[in-house]
Amino acid sequence: MKSFPLTNCPRCGEKKLVVTPLALNCLSRRDNKTYICTRCGTEEALNDYSNTWNDVHDWVSPPPSIVALQ
Ligand SMILES: [Zn+2]
Repeated sequence: MKSFPLTNCPRCGEKKLVVTPLALNCLSRRDNKTYICTRCGTEEALNDYSNTWNDVHDWVSPPPSIVALQ
């Protein structure tokens, strides 16, 4: 399996975000433009499904578009 360069996910902080191609990651459901790792994308989807809002404070390094949601 081909390996891709990774960087830190802005939500969980773990080195799981694919640098390129970005489409291999998940697009955050919060702002619809910030890429997060696939595990965080799954968590956001499950939080939405169970109607448990995952607060912005859970982000390790939230981008301005996420901070603006507070
Ligand atoms: Zn993550």
